[in-house]
Amino acid sequence: MPRAYLGLGGNIGRVKENIEEGLRLLRDSENVQVLATSSYYKTAPVGFVQQDWFLNIAAEIETALSPYELLALCNDIEQQLKRERLIKWGPRTIDIDILLYEGFESNSNKLTVPHPRMTERAFVMIPLQEIAPELIIKGQHIKDITSNLDNQEIRKLTDD
Ligand code: ATP
Ligand code: CA
Ligand code: CA
Repeated sequence: MPRAYLGLGGNIGRVKENIEEGLRLLRDSENVQVLATSSYYKTAPVGFVQQDWFLNIAAEIETALSPYELLALCNDIEQQLKRERLIKWGPRTIDIDILLYEGFESNSNKLTVPHPRMTERAFVMIPLQEIAPELIIKGQHIKDITSNLDNQEIRKLTDD
Protein backbone atom coordinates (compact mmCIF):
# COMPACT_ATOMS: atom_id res chain seq x y z
CA MET A 1 0.00 0.00 0.00
CA PRO A 2 1.25 3.52 -0.72
CA ARG A 3 2.61 5.66 2.08
CA ALA A 4 1.65 9.28 2.42
CA TYR A 5 2.50 12.17 4.73
CA LEU A 6 -0.10 14.53 6.08
CA GLY A 7 0.23 17.87 7.83
CA LEU A 8 -2.39 18.67 10.47
CA GLY A 9 -2.75 22.03 12.17
CA GLY A 10 -5.11 24.51 13.71
CA ASN A 11 -5.36 27.55 15.94
CA ILE A 12 -8.94 27.93 17.15
CA GLY A 13 -10.47 26.53 20.29
CA ARG A 14 -9.18 23.34 21.80
CA VAL A 15 -6.53 22.94 19.15
CA LYS A 16 -4.70 19.91 20.52
CA GLU A 17 -8.02 18.14 21.06
CA ASN A 18 -9.08 19.00 17.50
CA ILE A 19 -5.89 17.51 16.06
CA GLU A 20 -6.23 14.44 18.28
CA GLU A 21 -9.80 14.05 17.07
CA GLY A 22 -8.62 14.42 13.46
CA LEU A 23 -6.11 11.63 14.05
CA ARG A 24 -8.77 9.47 15.66
CA LEU A 25 -11.04 9.92 12.63
CA LEU A 26 -8.13 9.02 10.33
CA ARG A 27 -7.43 5.89 12.41
CA ASP A 28 -11.13 5.00 12.32
CA SER A 29 -11.13 5.02 8.54
CA GLU A 30 -10.73 1.41 7.46
CA ASN A 31 -8.59 2.39 4.50
CA VAL A 32 -5.99 4.32 6.48
CA GLN A 33 -3.30 3.09 8.84
CA VAL A 34 -1.54 5.74 10.86
CA LEU A 35 2.08 4.57 11.09
CA ALA A 36 3.68 7.49 12.93
CA THR A 37 2.84 10.89 14.32
CA SER A 38 5.20 13.68 15.32
CA SER A 39 5.24 15.70 18.49
CA TYR A 40 3.06 18.79 18.62
CA TYR A 41 4.77 21.99 17.54
CA LYS A 42 3.76 25.52 18.34
CA THR A 43 4.42 28.17 15.71
CA ALA A 44 3.80 31.87 15.28
CA PRO A 45 1.14 32.59 12.64
CA VAL A 46 2.14 33.65 9.11
CA GLY A 47 0.04 35.75 6.76
CA PHE A 48 -2.63 37.20 9.02
CA VAL A 49 -0.62 37.79 12.20
CA GLN A 50 -3.29 39.06 14.63
CA GLN A 51 -4.30 35.59 15.70
CA ASP A 52 -3.38 32.83 18.10
CA TRP A 53 -0.38 30.61 17.64
CA PHE A 54 -0.77 27.47 15.60
CA LEU A 55 -0.23 23.89 16.62
CA ASN A 56 1.01 21.52 13.94
CA ILE A 57 1.93 17.88 13.60
CA ALA A 58 2.91 15.56 10.76
CA ALA A 59 1.59 12.03 10.29
CA GLU A 60 2.82 9.12 8.21
CA ILE A 61 0.07 6.89 6.91
CA GLU A 62 -0.36 3.86 4.70
CA THR A 63 -3.53 3.93 2.65
CA ALA A 64 -5.57 2.00 0.14
CA LEU A 65 -7.20 5.28 -0.89
CA SER A 66 -6.19 6.99 -4.11
CA PRO A 67 -4.76 10.51 -3.71
CA TYR A 68 -8.13 12.11 -4.56
CA GLU A 69 -9.99 9.76 -2.22
CA LEU A 70 -7.53 10.67 0.51
CA LEU A 71 -8.14 14.38 -0.17
CA ALA A 72 -11.89 13.77 0.11
CA LEU A 73 -11.37 12.01 3.45
CA CYS A 74 -9.23 14.88 4.76
CA ASN A 75 -11.88 17.41 3.68
CA ASP A 76 -14.56 15.27 5.27
CA ILE A 77 -12.70 15.19 8.59
CA GLU A 78 -12.20 18.97 8.42
CA GLN A 79 -15.96 19.35 7.95
CA GLN A 80 -16.72 16.99 10.82
CA LEU A 81 -14.54 19.09 13.07
CA LYS A 82 -16.51 22.11 11.89
CA ARG A 83 -13.69 23.87 10.23
CA GLU A 84 -14.56 27.51 9.89
CA ARG A 85 -12.50 30.17 8.31
CA LEU A 86 -13.24 33.74 7.34
CA ILE A 87 -9.84 35.00 6.26
CA LYS A 88 -7.33 33.35 3.91
CA TRP A 89 -4.50 31.93 6.01
CA GLY A 90 -6.50 33.08 9.04
CA PRO A 91 -7.68 31.11 12.05
CA ARG A 92 -9.19 27.65 11.62
CA THR A 93 -10.18 24.76 13.81
CA ILE A 94 -8.32 22.21 11.71
CA ASP A 95 -6.45 21.98 8.43
CA ILE A 96 -5.30 18.68 6.93
CA ASP A 97 -2.98 18.85 3.95
CA ILE A 98 -1.55 16.03 1.87
CA LEU A 99 2.18 16.73 1.84
CA LEU A 100 3.47 13.72 -0.08
CA TYR A 101 1.92 10.61 -1.56
CA GLU A 102 4.23 7.78 -2.61
CA GLY A 103 4.56 7.46 -6.38
CA PHE A 104 2.23 10.38 -7.10
CA GLU A 105 2.84 13.90 -8.35
CA SER A 106 0.21 16.39 -9.46
CA ASN A 107 0.01 20.05 -10.36
CA SER A 108 -3.74 20.49 -10.46
CA ASN A 109 -5.33 23.21 -8.32
CA LYS A 110 -7.53 20.71 -6.59
CA LEU A 111 -4.59 18.57 -5.55
CA THR A 112 -0.97 19.63 -5.80
CA VAL A 113 1.48 17.01 -4.54
CA PRO A 114 4.12 17.45 -3.21
CA HIS A 115 2.33 20.24 -1.37
CA PRO A 116 3.64 23.36 -3.16
CA ARG A 117 4.51 25.44 -0.09
CA MET A 118 5.71 22.73 2.27
CA THR A 119 9.44 23.23 1.82
CA GLU A 120 9.18 26.93 2.79
CA ARG A 121 7.37 26.22 6.05
CA ALA A 122 9.17 25.26 9.23
CA PHE A 123 5.82 24.30 10.80
CA VAL A 124 5.45 21.61 8.14
CA MET A 125 9.07 20.53 7.70
CA ILE A 126 10.20 20.29 11.35
CA PRO A 127 7.41 17.88 12.43
CA LEU A 128 7.91 15.94 9.19
CA GLN A 129 11.65 15.62 9.78
CA GLU A 130 10.96 14.17 13.23
CA ILE A 131 9.09 11.18 11.74
CA ALA A 132 10.96 10.95 8.40
CA PRO A 133 14.54 12.09 8.98
CA GLU A 134 15.87 10.64 5.71
CA LEU A 135 13.14 11.89 3.39
CA ILE A 136 14.07 13.24 -0.04
CA ILE A 137 11.67 15.91 -1.36
CA LYS A 138 12.00 17.07 -4.95
CA GLY A 139 15.55 15.74 -4.99
CA GLN A 140 16.56 17.48 -1.77
CA HIS A 141 17.35 15.84 1.57
CA ILE A 142 14.99 17.03 4.31
CA LYS A 143 17.84 18.14 6.57
CA ASP A 144 19.09 20.48 3.85
CA ILE A 145 15.59 21.94 3.55
CA THR A 146 15.10 22.49 7.28
CA SER A 147 18.57 24.01 7.72
CA ASN A 148 17.35 26.93 5.57
CA LEU A 149 14.27 27.48 7.76
CA ASP A 150 15.98 28.10 11.09
CA ASN A 151 14.90 31.77 11.10
CA GLN A 152 11.26 30.68 11.63
CA GLU A 153 10.13 30.42 15.22
CA ILE A 154 8.86 26.97 16.15
CA ARG A 155 8.81 25.16 19.47
CA LYS A 156 8.08 21.60 20.45
CA LEU A 157 5.12 21.49 22.83
CA THR A 158 6.34 19.95 26.06
CA ASP A 159 3.49 20.44 28.52
CA ASP A 160 0.49 18.24 27.87
P1 ATP B 1 -2.06 26.08 1.95
O1 ATP B 1 -2.41 25.16 0.81
O2 ATP B 1 -1.18 27.23 1.55
O3 ATP B 1 -1.53 25.36 3.16
P2 ATP B 1 -4.68 26.15 3.08
O4 ATP B 1 -4.35 24.80 3.62
O5 ATP B 1 -5.18 27.16 4.05
O6 ATP B 1 -3.41 26.80 2.35
P3 ATP B 1 -7.19 25.36 2.06
O7 ATP B 1 -8.20 26.42 2.03
O8 ATP B 1 -7.21 24.38 3.20
O9 ATP B 1 -5.73 26.00 1.92
O10 ATP B 1 -7.27 24.49 0.72
C1 ATP B 1 -7.64 25.08 -0.48
C2 ATP B 1 -7.68 23.99 -1.54
O11 ATP B 1 -6.38 23.44 -1.74
C3 ATP B 1 -8.52 22.78 -1.22
O12 ATP B 1 -9.82 22.95 -1.70
C4 ATP B 1 -7.81 21.62 -1.93
O13 ATP B 1 -8.57 21.09 -3.00
C5 ATP B 1 -6.56 22.26 -2.50
N1 ATP B 1 -5.33 21.47 -2.42
C6 ATP B 1 -4.39 21.43 -3.41
N2 ATP B 1 -3.38 20.63 -3.08
C7 ATP B 1 -3.66 20.14 -1.83
C8 ATP B 1 -2.97 19.25 -0.96
N3 ATP B 1 -1.78 18.73 -1.30
N4 ATP B 1 -3.53 18.96 0.23
C9 ATP B 1 -4.72 19.50 0.57
N5 ATP B 1 -5.43 20.35 -0.21
C10 ATP B 1 -4.90 20.67 -1.39
CA1 CA C 1 -2.44 24.25 4.85
CA1 CA D 1 -5.52 22.82 3.49
